[in-house]
Amino acid sequence: MGNISHIKDCYGCGLCATVCAKKIIEIKLNKKGFYEPRITDTNKCTNCGLCTDVCAFSHNTPALTQEEKSIKSWAAWSNDERVLLKCSSGGIGFEIAKQLIEKDYKLCGCRYNAEAGRAEHYIATTPEEAVQSIGSKYIQSYTVDGFKAINRKEKYIVTGTPCQIDSFRRYIRKFRVEDNFVLLDFFCHCVPSMWAWNKYTKMVEKQTGKITYASWRNKFTGWHDSWAMSLDGENTETEKVDWHDSYNLIIKGKKGFHNSRLSQGDFFYYLFLGHYGCNPACTKNCKYKYDSSSADIRIGDLWGNTYKDNEKGVSALISFTSKGKKVIEELKGVRLIEHPLDIVAEGQMKSNVKKAPTSWLVELFLKSSFGLDSNLWKMICRINRISKRISYRLKKIEK
Ligand SMILES: Cc1cc2nc3c(=O)[nH]c(=O)nc-3n(C[C@H](O)[C@H](O)[C@H](O)COP(=O)(O)OP(=O)(O)OC[C@H]3O[C@@H](n4cnc5c(N)ncnc54)[C@H](O)[C@@H]3O)c2cc1C
Ligand code: SF4
Ligand code: SF4
Repeated sequence: MGNISHIKDCYGCGLCATVCAKKIIEIKLNKKGFYEPRITDTNKCTNCGLCTDVCAFSHNTPALTQEEKSIKSWAAWSNDERVLLKCSSGGIGFEIAKQLIEKDYKLCGCRYNAEAGRAEHYIATTPEEAVQSIGSKYIQSYTVDGFKAINRKEKYIVTGTPCQIDSFRRYIRKFRVEDNFVLLDFFCHCVPSMWAWNKYTKMVEKQTGKITYASWRNKFTGWHDSWAMSLDGENTETEKVDWHDSYNLIIKGKKGFHNSRLSQGDFFYYLFLGHYGCNPACTKNCKYKYDSSSADIRIGDLWGNTYKDNEKGVSALISFTSKGKKVIEELKGVRLIEHPLDIVAEGQMKSNVKKAPTSWLVELFLKSSFGLDSNLWKMICRINRISKRISYRLKKIEK
């Protein structure tokens, strides 16, 4: 049967560490800045095979087969303006979690832990506690403590990247407790190296002091107190931005705050959306694009033509199972408009991301002690630009 000791560059989902009864698997950042499992004491391994059974990386196809699926898709958004303002797109992820919590479910979702400087899974038992899960954290989440805190006999909604959710589906199937769980994932193009986030926060902390809060997507250009459950729009510098321009990193520190947008050339988004330093598992081994998923429900940004004039945010919403469909159809206080999948998933990737040509150079830089405010980084940005121009021209000549 074996164990996961041979696995490298995996999804880092943490289910192997969650399932191991001998507690000999730990999840740590590898040399490239991605979570990876390690066996701490091979002598204690009983070769039970549980860690490889639940490992989505070790299987060729998602646990939920195409035959098990019946797909229905909607454009969706929350009717609550405060939720809409806080969430990355239409706020439907939060509405689903909140309304299931009101039906005695718990949420295992992802929050940003500013003290540890990482995203991590945690358990929320009230809508107030679920507020921390709102918004995309565009870095890998450390899942182990959150997943281990789940009592399999109770009811949970579990949210995460499609690879995390595929392993989670295998885990609950293994223990025959699928009925207790609703699984939600999102369209996912890749996760960047933690070395990129660490360099970014190091640069920002020179301005803000120790970071106490970070938010990756915002429909405001100014600072607002995002932890307030009132989801209060009033205490903000309220220059609202169109959600199409909501890739807006807001970081609060002990000495001040930092606000930087993709449209203004933000360094973190430059690295993340330029596909410099993304997880090798995302470029080589992702099997969850478009309608491929092991979740009951998938959410995302509905960027397509149909809602191009919407400025507040529209979620793409898909049910893959009858359980997912039931949860969606019972939602209250949301707008649901049914559309065919090609409208709801318009613009979403159908194949895996390709690394930028000069990724290797950026990866070397990320491992170095130079900062994003150094001359070396400026020089690498220049090389990236030239290399992109050359490959664009070459493609044109080929055509
Ligand atoms: C790394 C990453 C890549 C993405 N790529 C795409 C894409 O290519 N196309 C697209 O349409 N959408 C993508 N998304 C999703 C998108 O950013 C929004 O989360 C989505 O539109 C839902 O918005 P919402 O306002 O309804 O949900 P929200 O209420 O903001 O809910 C988001 C849910 O995602 C979970 N979550 C947030 N960050 C993480 C994380 N790092 N790891 C695990 N779970 C997390 C939270 O627990 C929460 O339950 C991506 C998200 C991430 C984190
Ligand atoms: S993909 Fe997940 S389950 Fe598989 S080895 Fe990596 S962390 Fe463990
Ligand atoms: S792109 Fe695929 S492999 Fe990478 S984090 Fe997303 S679901 Fe996982």
